[in-house]
Amino acid sequence: MPARVLDGAATARKVREELRPRVAALAARGLRPGLGVLLVGDDPASAVYVRSKTKAGDDLGLLHDTVRLPATASTSEVAAVVEAYNARPEIHGILVQTPLPPQVDTARVLRLVDPAKDVDGFHPENVGLLVQKRPRFVPCTPAGIMELLAREGIALSGRRAVVLGRSDIVGKPMALLLMHADATVTVAHSKTPDLASVTREADVLVAAVGHAGLVRAEHVKVGAVVIDVGMNRVHDAAAAADLGGAERAEEFARKGYLLVGDVHAPSVRERAGALTPVPGGVGPLTIAMLLSNTVSSAERC
Ligand code: NAP
Repeated sequence: MPARVLDGAATARKVREELRPRVAALAARGLRPGLGVLLVGDDPASAVYVRSKTKAGDDLGLLHDTVRLPATASTSEVAAVVEAYNARPEIHGILVQTPLPPQVDTARVLRLVDPAKDVDGFHPENVGLLVQKRPRFVPCTPAGIMELLAREGIALSGRRAVVLGRSDIVGKPMALLLMHADATVTVAHSKTPDLASVTREADVLVAAVGHAGLVRAEHVKVGAVVIDVGMNRVHDAAAAADLGGAERAEEFARKGYLLVGDVHAPSVRERAGALTPVPGGVGPLTIAMLLSNTVSSAERC
Protein backbone atom coordinates (compact mmCIF):
# COMPACT_ATOMS: atom_id res chain seq x y z
CA MET A 1 0.00 0.00 0.00
CA PRO A 2 1.45 3.43 -0.88
CA ALA A 3 2.57 5.63 2.01
CA ARG A 4 0.10 8.01 3.64
CA VAL A 5 0.82 11.56 2.44
CA LEU A 6 1.66 13.86 5.34
CA ASP A 7 0.16 17.10 4.09
CA GLY A 8 2.50 19.78 5.42
CA ALA A 9 0.73 22.52 3.48
CA ALA A 10 -2.59 21.75 5.18
CA THR A 11 -0.99 21.64 8.64
CA ALA A 12 0.80 24.92 7.89
CA ARG A 13 -2.53 26.54 6.98
CA LYS A 14 -3.98 25.38 10.33
CA VAL A 15 -0.98 26.77 12.24
CA ARG A 16 -1.36 30.11 10.45
CA GLU A 17 -5.11 30.25 11.10
CA GLU A 18 -4.49 29.60 14.80
CA LEU A 19 -2.22 32.64 14.84
CA ARG A 20 -5.02 34.99 13.72
CA PRO A 21 -6.72 35.41 17.14
CA ARG A 22 -3.31 35.96 18.73
CA VAL A 23 -2.52 38.68 16.20
CA ALA A 24 -5.95 40.22 16.91
CA ALA A 25 -5.27 40.15 20.69
CA LEU A 26 -1.98 41.93 20.08
CA ALA A 27 -3.73 44.50 17.89
CA ALA A 28 -6.11 45.18 20.78
CA ARG A 29 -3.00 46.04 22.85
CA GLY A 30 -1.81 48.34 20.04
CA LEU A 31 0.89 45.91 18.90
CA ARG A 32 1.50 44.64 15.38
CA PRO A 33 4.13 41.86 15.11
CA GLY A 34 6.98 43.08 12.93
CA LEU A 35 9.51 41.06 10.95
CA GLY A 36 12.76 42.60 9.72
CA VAL A 37 14.22 40.75 6.75
CA LEU A 38 17.73 41.05 5.36
CA LEU A 39 18.46 39.67 1.90
CA VAL A 40 22.03 39.87 0.62
CA GLY A 41 22.86 39.21 -3.04
CA ASP A 42 20.64 37.95 -5.82
CA ASP A 43 20.34 34.19 -5.26
CA PRO A 44 16.96 33.44 -6.92
CA ALA A 45 16.04 30.68 -4.43
CA SER A 46 16.65 33.04 -1.47
CA ALA A 47 14.52 35.72 -3.14
CA VAL A 48 11.69 33.18 -3.58
CA TYR A 49 11.90 32.11 0.09
CA VAL A 50 11.83 35.72 1.28
CA ARG A 51 8.84 36.53 -0.95
CA SER A 52 6.91 33.50 0.36
CA LYS A 53 7.68 34.44 3.97
CA THR A 54 6.71 38.12 3.63
CA LYS A 55 3.55 37.23 1.65
CA ALA A 56 2.43 34.80 4.37
CA GLY A 57 3.17 37.51 6.96
CA ASP A 58 1.13 40.08 5.00
CA ASP A 59 -1.80 37.67 4.90
CA LEU A 60 -1.71 37.47 8.68
CA GLY A 61 -1.44 41.24 9.11
CA LEU A 62 2.19 41.32 10.21
CA LEU A 63 4.41 44.30 9.52
CA HIS A 64 7.51 43.56 7.51
CA ASP A 65 10.48 45.52 6.39
CA THR A 66 12.97 44.10 3.90
CA VAL A 67 16.50 45.46 3.38
CA ARG A 68 18.36 44.25 0.28
CA LEU A 69 22.12 44.52 0.03
CA PRO A 70 24.28 43.73 -3.01
CA ALA A 71 26.24 40.44 -3.24
CA THR A 72 29.43 42.47 -2.63
CA ALA A 73 28.30 43.67 0.85
CA SER A 74 30.87 43.42 3.64
CA THR A 75 30.37 41.86 7.08
CA SER A 76 30.17 45.33 8.63
CA GLU A 77 27.50 46.50 6.16
CA VAL A 78 25.42 43.41 6.92
CA ALA A 79 26.05 43.85 10.65
CA ALA A 80 24.86 47.48 10.48
CA VAL A 81 21.46 46.38 9.12
CA VAL A 82 21.10 43.77 11.88
CA GLU A 83 21.97 46.34 14.55
CA ALA A 84 19.47 48.79 13.11
CA TYR A 85 16.74 46.11 13.34
CA ASN A 86 17.85 45.29 16.91
CA ALA A 87 17.24 48.94 17.84
CA ARG A 88 13.76 49.25 16.32
CA PRO A 89 10.99 48.45 18.85
CA GLU A 90 8.39 47.74 16.12
CA ILE A 91 10.58 44.88 14.82
CA HIS A 92 9.98 41.73 16.92
CA GLY A 93 11.73 39.21 14.69
CA ILE A 94 14.84 39.39 12.51
CA LEU A 95 15.38 37.08 9.56
CA VAL A 96 18.82 37.04 7.96
CA GLN A 97 18.27 34.98 4.82
CA THR A 98 21.11 32.49 4.37
CA PRO A 99 23.34 31.58 2.69
CA LEU A 100 25.22 34.88 2.93
CA PRO A 101 27.94 35.60 0.34
CA PRO A 102 31.30 33.96 1.17
CA GLN A 103 33.05 37.22 2.18
CA VAL A 104 30.49 37.76 4.97
CA ASP A 105 31.24 36.22 8.37
CA THR A 106 27.88 34.45 8.82
CA ALA A 107 28.57 33.26 12.38
CA ARG A 108 29.45 36.81 13.48
CA VAL A 109 26.31 38.24 11.86
CA LEU A 110 24.04 35.64 13.47
CA ARG A 111 25.64 36.34 16.88
CA LEU A 112 24.75 40.03 16.47
CA VAL A 113 21.02 39.36 16.20
CA ASP A 114 19.31 40.30 19.48
CA PRO A 115 18.50 36.86 21.01
CA ALA A 116 15.06 38.21 21.96
CA LYS A 117 14.33 38.85 18.24
CA ASP A 118 16.08 35.74 16.90
CA VAL A 119 13.01 34.11 15.33
CA ASP A 120 15.19 31.72 13.32
CA GLY A 121 16.67 30.37 16.57
CA PHE A 122 20.26 30.44 15.31
CA HIS A 123 21.83 32.65 18.02
CA PRO A 124 24.11 30.65 20.37
CA GLU A 125 21.98 31.74 23.37
CA ASN A 126 18.85 30.23 21.80
CA VAL A 127 20.76 27.13 20.68
CA GLY A 128 21.92 26.70 24.30
CA LEU A 129 18.38 27.07 25.63
CA LEU A 130 17.20 24.42 23.17
CA VAL A 131 19.99 22.06 24.24
CA GLN A 132 18.86 22.52 27.86
CA LYS A 133 15.23 21.81 26.87
CA ARG A 134 14.21 25.36 27.81
CA PRO A 135 13.44 26.54 24.25
CA ARG A 136 12.75 30.19 23.46
CA PHE A 137 12.98 30.25 19.65
CA VAL A 138 13.24 26.85 17.95
CA PRO A 139 14.64 26.82 14.37
CA CYS A 140 11.64 26.91 12.06
CA THR A 141 12.16 23.80 9.91
CA PRO A 142 12.59 21.28 12.74
CA ALA A 143 9.89 23.08 14.77
CA GLY A 144 7.51 22.65 11.83
CA ILE A 145 8.34 18.97 11.53
CA MET A 146 7.60 18.43 15.24
CA GLU A 147 4.27 20.24 14.78
CA LEU A 148 3.42 17.97 11.83
CA LEU A 149 4.36 14.78 13.69
CA ALA A 150 2.26 15.84 16.71
CA ARG A 151 -0.79 16.80 14.67
CA GLU A 152 -0.58 13.60 12.60
CA GLY A 153 -0.58 11.58 15.84
CA ILE A 154 2.84 10.04 15.18
CA ALA A 155 4.23 8.72 18.45
CA LEU A 156 7.91 9.36 19.19
CA SER A 157 8.46 8.14 22.72
CA GLY A 158 10.66 5.03 22.74
CA ARG A 159 10.87 4.91 18.95
CA ARG A 160 14.01 4.90 16.83
CA ALA A 161 14.61 8.13 14.92
CA VAL A 162 17.39 8.72 12.41
CA VAL A 163 18.27 12.24 11.28
CA LEU A 164 20.21 12.28 8.05
CA GLY A 165 22.24 15.53 8.02
CA ARG A 166 23.86 17.50 10.85
CA SER A 167 23.52 21.15 9.84
CA ASP A 168 23.00 23.85 12.47
CA ILE A 169 19.68 24.85 10.92
CA VAL A 170 18.04 21.46 10.42
CA GLY A 171 19.88 18.28 11.44
CA LYS A 172 21.22 19.25 14.88
CA PRO A 173 18.10 20.98 16.25
CA MET A 174 15.95 18.19 14.75
CA ALA A 175 17.95 15.57 16.64
CA LEU A 176 17.60 17.54 19.89
CA LEU A 177 13.83 17.93 19.50
CA LEU A 178 13.36 14.23 18.76
CA MET A 179 15.54 13.32 21.76
CA HIS A 180 13.51 15.68 23.97
CA ALA A 181 10.39 13.88 22.72
CA ASP A 182 11.92 10.64 24.08
CA ALA A 183 12.90 9.09 20.75
CA THR A 184 16.20 7.21 20.55
CA VAL A 185 18.08 9.31 18.03
CA THR A 186 20.92 8.56 15.62
CA VAL A 187 22.47 11.32 13.51
CA ALA A 188 23.99 10.20 10.21
CA HIS A 189 26.06 12.30 7.79
CA SER A 190 28.43 12.13 4.85
CA LYS A 191 31.05 10.16 6.82
CA THR A 192 28.58 7.50 8.00
CA PRO A 193 29.54 4.13 6.50
CA ASP A 194 26.83 1.82 5.18
CA LEU A 195 24.20 4.52 5.43
CA ALA A 196 21.30 2.27 4.43
CA SER A 197 21.89 -0.08 7.38
CA VAL A 198 21.65 2.93 9.73
CA THR A 199 18.60 4.57 8.15
CA ARG A 200 16.75 1.23 7.95
CA GLU A 201 16.72 1.20 11.77
CA ALA A 202 14.45 4.25 11.77
CA ASP A 203 10.80 4.25 12.71
CA VAL A 204 11.01 7.96 11.90
CA LEU A 205 13.54 9.07 9.29
CA VAL A 206 14.27 12.76 8.64
CA ALA A 207 16.30 13.43 5.49
CA ALA A 208 18.06 16.82 5.30
CA VAL A 209 21.06 16.41 3.03
CA GLY A 210 20.49 18.58 -0.06
CA HIS A 211 21.05 15.65 -2.43
CA ALA A 212 18.12 14.88 -4.76
CA GLY A 213 16.71 11.39 -4.29
CA LEU A 214 19.53 10.11 -2.07
CA VAL A 215 17.15 8.16 0.17
CA ARG A 216 15.79 5.20 -1.79
CA ALA A 217 13.64 2.23 -0.87
CA GLU A 218 16.64 0.27 0.44
CA HIS A 219 17.26 3.03 3.04
CA VAL A 220 13.78 2.71 4.53
CA LYS A 221 12.23 0.24 6.97
CA VAL A 222 8.81 -1.02 5.87
CA GLY A 223 6.15 1.22 7.41
CA ALA A 224 8.54 3.98 8.52
CA VAL A 225 7.54 7.64 8.72
CA VAL A 226 9.76 9.56 6.30
CA ILE A 227 10.16 13.33 6.47
CA ASP A 228 11.75 14.84 3.39
CA VAL A 229 13.36 18.23 4.11
CA GLY A 230 15.31 18.48 0.86
CA MET A 231 14.54 21.13 -1.74
CA ASN A 232 16.46 20.46 -4.92
CA ARG A 233 15.83 21.82 -8.40
CA VAL A 234 16.41 19.18 -11.06
CA HIS A 235 16.88 20.41 -14.65
CA ASP A 236 18.04 17.17 -16.27
CA ALA A 237 15.20 15.34 -18.06
CA ALA A 238 16.36 11.81 -17.18
CA ALA A 239 16.87 12.72 -13.49
CA ALA A 240 13.47 14.43 -13.42
CA ALA A 241 11.79 11.35 -14.91
CA ASP A 242 13.50 9.13 -12.30
CA LEU A 243 12.76 11.40 -9.33
CA GLY A 244 9.35 12.73 -10.30
CA GLY A 245 7.84 9.60 -11.83
CA ALA A 246 5.33 9.62 -14.68
CA GLU A 247 2.83 11.79 -12.79
CA ARG A 248 5.17 14.82 -12.78
CA ALA A 249 6.26 14.55 -16.45
CA GLU A 250 3.84 17.27 -17.56
CA GLU A 251 5.03 19.59 -14.75
CA PHE A 252 8.65 19.12 -15.88
CA ALA A 253 7.74 19.79 -19.51
CA ARG A 254 5.92 22.99 -18.49
CA LYS A 255 8.53 24.41 -16.07
CA GLY A 256 11.77 23.00 -17.43
CA TYR A 257 12.74 21.82 -13.94
CA LEU A 258 11.31 19.91 -10.97
CA LEU A 259 11.52 20.70 -7.30
CA VAL A 260 12.30 17.40 -5.58
CA GLY A 261 13.35 16.28 -2.13
CA ASP A 262 16.20 14.21 -0.75
CA VAL A 263 13.92 11.18 -0.89
CA HIS A 264 13.35 9.17 -4.07
CA ALA A 265 9.59 9.43 -3.75
CA PRO A 266 8.52 6.90 -6.42
CA SER A 267 10.30 4.00 -4.67
CA VAL A 268 10.08 5.12 -1.03
CA ARG A 269 6.33 5.70 -1.33
CA GLU A 270 5.88 1.95 -1.89
CA ARG A 271 7.77 1.05 1.30
CA ALA A 272 7.19 3.81 3.87
CA GLY A 273 4.11 4.09 6.07
CA ALA A 274 3.92 7.86 5.67
CA LEU A 275 5.86 10.42 3.64
CA THR A 276 5.95 14.21 3.27
CA PRO A 277 5.66 15.41 -0.33
CA VAL A 278 8.00 17.89 -2.02
CA PRO A 279 6.71 20.48 -2.67
CA GLY A 280 3.91 20.90 -0.11
CA GLY A 281 5.54 19.14 2.84
CA VAL A 282 8.15 20.71 5.09
CA GLY A 283 8.52 24.02 3.18
CA PRO A 284 5.15 25.56 4.13
CA LEU A 285 5.61 24.43 7.74
CA THR A 286 8.90 26.30 7.95
CA ILE A 287 7.16 29.52 6.92
CA ALA A 288 4.29 28.97 9.37
CA MET A 289 6.73 28.48 12.25
CA LEU A 290 8.60 31.68 11.35
CA LEU A 291 5.32 33.58 11.66
CA SER A 292 4.53 31.73 14.89
CA ASN A 293 7.92 32.67 16.37
CA THR A 294 7.40 36.31 15.34
CA VAL A 295 3.97 36.43 16.98
CA SER A 296 5.39 34.79 20.15
CA SER A 297 8.14 37.39 20.20
CA ALA A 298 5.63 40.26 20.01
CA GLU A 299 3.57 38.64 22.80
CA ARG A 300 6.62 38.76 25.07
CA CYS A 301 6.78 42.59 24.74
P1 NAP B 1 23.69 21.41 4.66
O1 NAP B 1 24.05 22.48 5.62
O2 NAP B 1 24.36 21.37 3.33
O3 NAP B 1 23.90 20.01 5.39
C1 NAP B 1 23.74 18.82 4.69
C2 NAP B 1 24.04 17.65 5.60
O4 NAP B 1 23.85 16.46 4.85
C3 NAP B 1 25.46 17.62 6.15
O5 NAP B 1 25.44 17.27 7.51
C4 NAP B 1 26.14 16.56 5.30
O6 NAP B 1 27.13 15.82 6.00
C5 NAP B 1 25.00 15.63 4.99
N1 NAP B 1 25.22 14.93 3.73
C6 NAP B 1 25.52 15.47 2.52
N2 NAP B 1 25.67 14.49 1.59
C7 NAP B 1 25.47 13.32 2.23
C8 NAP B 1 25.51 11.97 1.83
N3 NAP B 1 25.77 11.61 0.58
N4 NAP B 1 25.26 11.02 2.76
C9 NAP B 1 24.97 11.36 4.03
N5 NAP B 1 24.93 12.62 4.49
C10 NAP B 1 25.17 13.60 3.59
O7 NAP B 1 22.13 21.41 4.32
P2 NAP B 1 20.85 21.93 5.16
O8 NAP B 1 20.89 23.40 5.26
O9 NAP B 1 20.67 21.12 6.39
O10 NAP B 1 19.70 21.57 4.12
C11 NAP B 1 19.48 20.24 3.69
C12 NAP B 1 18.39 20.24 2.63
O11 NAP B 1 17.18 20.73 3.19
C13 NAP B 1 18.66 21.14 1.42
O12 NAP B 1 18.07 20.56 0.26
C14 NAP B 1 17.91 22.41 1.75
O13 NAP B 1 17.52 23.15 0.59
C15 NAP B 1 16.72 21.84 2.44
N6 NAP B 1 16.07 22.76 3.38
C16 NAP B 1 14.72 22.85 3.28
C17 NAP B 1 14.04 23.65 4.16
C18 NAP B 1 12.57 23.72 4.04
O14 NAP B 1 11.96 24.63 4.58
N7 NAP B 1 11.94 22.76 3.37
C19 NAP B 1 14.71 24.37 5.14
C20 NAP B 1 16.10 24.22 5.25
C21 NAP B 1 16.77 23.39 4.36
P3 NAP B 1 28.51 16.48 6.54
O15 NAP B 1 28.12 17.26 7.76
O16 NAP B 1 29.35 15.30 6.84
O17 NAP B 1 29.01 17.35 5.43
